[in-house]
Amino acid sequence: MKLRELYTILKDVLKEASESPGSEALSILSKVTSQTRERLLMNFEEEIPEKVCQVAISLAKKRASGYPLQYITERCYFYGLELHVCEGVFVPRIETEILVDLALELIEERRFKVVADIGTGTGCIAIAIALRSEGEVFATDVSEKALEVAKRNVERYRARVQLLKGAYLTPLLPVLSDVQLIVSNPPYVPTGAKLPLDVLREPHEALFAGEDGLEFYRNFFSDPSLLTRKTIIMEMSPEQEDPLRALLKDLGTITFFKDQFNRTRFFRLDVA
Ligand code: SAM
Ligand code: GLN
Repeated sequence: MKLRELYTILKDVLKEASESPGSEALSILSKVTSQTRERLLMNFEEEIPEKVCQVAISLAKKRASGYPLQYITERCYFYGLELHVCEGVFVPRIETEILVDLALELIEERRFKVVADIGTGTGCIAIAIALRSEGEVFATDVSEKALEVAKRNVERYRARVQLLKGAYLTPLLPVLSDVQLIVSNPPYVPTGAKLPLDVLREPHEALFAGEDGLEFYRNFFSDPSLLTRKTIIMEMSPEQEDPLRALLKDLGTITFFKDQFNRTRFFRLDVA
């Protein structure tokens, strides 16, 4: 079959499930033929072996059944970086790029030299910060799989990031007194929340944080003495503004920030 025909079939399979079936069809074709999207677009009359066509169609059907495209292509994009990702690891979201901007502004303004990213997933936040600043960056996760993927991404970009395994502040305890800024996109979705099928295929420990979605924050801030005079920037969901204000009011000064879609999605806590 010619590439042109296969592309049309894939687009058709994907059209119910995806807002950009053409682009997703190209991503799948790029994966199965090991050719860039640009090269594919210039060779639409090329004959594609039957076996390759079958693999491409079955991947498109898998995608159409609610499987994340990034798990098929094993690639995702964040802050201008191309990162490896696979099933079992959270796919970075575009909103989180604002968290990196907030962190970089502060690193420059306050001359922070030691930063930690809690729950690093693919390593996206830590790598973006390390590549655009000069200090030391630590990145932690509870998930072995996430740390494997993050290691691969850190090595690819030769980023100055030290990976550590463990929950909350535990893996940082030996260096915590040096850490000036902590950033995190933690799990914050309430356990009962209705999520799209492809989001539900992502690791639940990356998404869900108890019935009210605040469990991570409650545990993280349970011993404020560990955080004295540190600055913390975290992602949140817009409806968590009031509960977070109440939870953190005695710890220091809290400031909320919006994402590029004008929703309150981040807070900065300057611990007293
Ligand atoms: N930072 C990445 C990003 O923005 O794409 C991943 C964010 S994902 C929403 C949350 C990550 O936190 C997951 O990789 C998960 O394994 C990790 N995680 C969950 N609970 C944790 C905990 N108590 N301590 C450290 N990491 C945790
Ligand atoms: N924003 C994510 C979603 O797509 C949730 C991320 C998180 O819990 N940190 O549902």
